[in-house]
Amino acid sequence: MTAGWHQHPAVVPVELAAGDVVVVGGGPAGLGAALGAARAGARVVCLERHGFCGGNLTAASIGTICGLYLPTGRGFDRIHGGVADELADALADAGAGLGPVPFKETAVFLYVPWVAKRLADALLTTTEGITLLLHSLVADVVVTGGVLEAVVVATKRGPMAVRGRVFVDCSGDGDVAAFSGVPTVIGEPADRQAASMQFVMQHVDVPAALGALGRLGDLIEAHGGHLSRDAGAFLPTGRPGEVIVAMTRVRLPDGSPPDVTDPRQATAGELEGRRRAEEAAEFLRAHVPGFAEAFLADTAAALGVRESRRIVGRHVLTGAEVDTGATFPDAVARGAWPREYHTRGRATDYHFLAPGVAYDVPYRSLVPRRGPPNLLVAGRCLSADADALASVRVVAPCLALGQAAGVAAALAARGDGDVAAVEPAAIRDTLRAQGARLPP
Ligand SMILES: Cc1cc2nc3c(=O)[nH]c(=O)nc-3n(C[C@H](O)[C@H](O)[C@H](O)COP(=O)(O)OP(=O)(O)OC[C@H]3O[C@@H](n4cnc5c(N)ncnc54)[C@H](O)[C@@H]3O)c2cc1C
Repeated sequence: MTAGWHQHPAVVPVELAAGDVVVVGGGPAGLGAALGAARAGARVVCLERHGFCGGNLTAASIGTICGLYLPTGRGFDRIHGGVADELADALADAGAGLGPVPFKETAVFLYVPWVAKRLADALLTTTEGITLLLHSLVADVVVTGGVLEAVVVATKRGPMAVRGRVFVDCSGDGDVAAFSGVPTVIGEPADRQAASMQFVMQHVDVPAALGALGRLGDLIEAHGGHLSRDAGAFLPTGRPGEVIVAMTRVRLPDGSPPDVTDPRQATAGELEGRRRAEEAAEFLRAHVPGFAEAFLADTAAALGVRESRRIVGRHVLTGAEVDTGATFPDAVARGAWPREYHTRGRATDYHFLAPGVAYDVPYRSLVPRRGPPNLLVAGRCLSADADALASVRVVAPCLALGQAAGVAAALAARGDGDVAAVEPAAIRDTLRAQGARLPP
């Protein structure tokens, strides 16, 4: 943390941009936050370290949007409305999205990452009031008198400052919160969700591959004892001969998931991810129908990170609250995805909610317990225990949480910037006016 401009000589004179609301990170939560804040009337600056937005949706090529639906026992209802539905509908309209696709006891929405990348470009550049800055890694903050005055962006011209009235940390890793002195936690290595490297195979006989998907676990058991996962998925992109493959689990040599806030561990994770992807692709070619003539087209642009820092907020959402469909008077978003764990050995464990059960996420889980009064957090770095995170971390709730945080930030920016003073009822009314579905 940099206390005051005068103590950061490189930053003093150089202002890159200023906004009522500054959103850090252009992943699902950041997209939701930028759009939610701008539509609520704020001047928004959205800062993204990569050359494109989408976060794991694009950079990690995850291939499905989870958490969009509530399984009712009779079918699948959309639960979020707002930006989450808007994104899914736009993907479907572009011929690049499909859902609900039944998956175990729930359903997912398949999409093409490239199209999501262009859609994020379009949404952020055609919505009035948003300034998008790519290649803008937030590397520090300026806190003056306890208030977050600016974030410091590492640019090719040196560090530059982006001032704001209210900030929303959608970095996935809680970077702004950590730099600002907000208490954060990161799961112990044994309990932390592993990272994964997704990869794309082309020249696949897709019908044959999908026909063999149900036997993938058996084939891995018979021939793939060396692989990092005991199962996986092929996600068809709808383009001839192409699937995204989810079949890796990335750990460091000591067995722990990389903590990507440490560049040494982040580097080891990327290298191991690519090695694991190549290993899995070789296995597919050798043992799985449909892949004999296929090739590994590319790995995802970045290692996919499921879990790193999250804040300690005014409410810590718990796994028990997820399971029981807890309700809160300050609910600003909902979730219904199972608790999904990539923590135990090579297996993935799912703990499903009962049909028809959805839980609320309270506004207080986005508000830091301590730290600058003008900072909110959304997405997978929200305040939740490991069990609640296992459910709420997927894309659709992150889009909805981001939209809620963006709206709250815009409302706070109209006043003195104190996010804790914003009335949850006002956030909910504005979210509903933006098309979000919230409980009464
Ligand atoms: C391998 C893998 C597979 C998954 N599969 C699915 C799936 O199939 N369906 C699903 O719904 N969910 C899936 N998930 C979960 C989901 O992808 C994430 O939890 C979700 O993307 C979280 O959204 P977010 O916006 O909070 O964070 P992220 O998606 O991590 O986005 C954070 C954004 O902030 C940017 N950023 C980070 N730090 C800074 C900084 N300091 N300055 C500027 N920008 C910064 C990043 O570049 C990124 O764009 C998967 C996750 C992984 C890792």
